[in-house]
Amino acid sequence: MNKRGHVLNGLLLSLGLGFVLEPGLNAATAEMIAQITVPVVLGALFPDVDTAFGRHRKTLHSLPVLAVFIAYPIVFGNLQYVWIGVLTHYLLDVVGSRRGIALFHPLSDREYGMPTGVTTSSKYADLVTVVITAVEIAAFWAINKYVVNLELDLSAAARTASEAAAGFGL
Ligand SMILES: [Zn+2]
Repeated sequence: MNKRGHVLNGLLLSLGLGFVLEPGLNAATAEMIAQITVPVVLGALFPDVDTAFGRHRKTLHSLPVLAVFIAYPIVFGNLQYVWIGVLTHYLLDVVGSRRGIALFHPLSDREYGMPTGVTTSSKYADLVTVVITAVEIAAFWAINKYVVNLELDLSAAARTASEAAAGFGL
């Protein structure tokens, strides 16, 4: 997917997640959307830096890179929510475009993709992006409602977990 698609995906996903995490139409919803939009869009743009540094769809399109972004809020207490942008970038590349990404780089250069995609120059690219984003928001909503209360700020989630562990005398 091209830059335009990734920005569109990041913006719409942030909007949807704002309503998932702070349901309603009030100040808390607006604040949540404001809080996550810039980090998510920045994260969504980051992987394609490998068009200039490294090898495209390999160097910065791998699970180890995602793990680094997930670790940052926990270890350093910054870059909250950026990992969501990186994750959605990978999903869009895997599901929405013809060419896959090297998820296990640098261990393997094999690119993983799905036959569902369109070429990035296709006139359907925006439609595919919007549909994938809608599915992502629905998935977040369902997981948040039925599986686990999603704490997208992972530093707060880690803090809660360690407090809970302390509470159990661990
Ligand atoms: Zn990409």
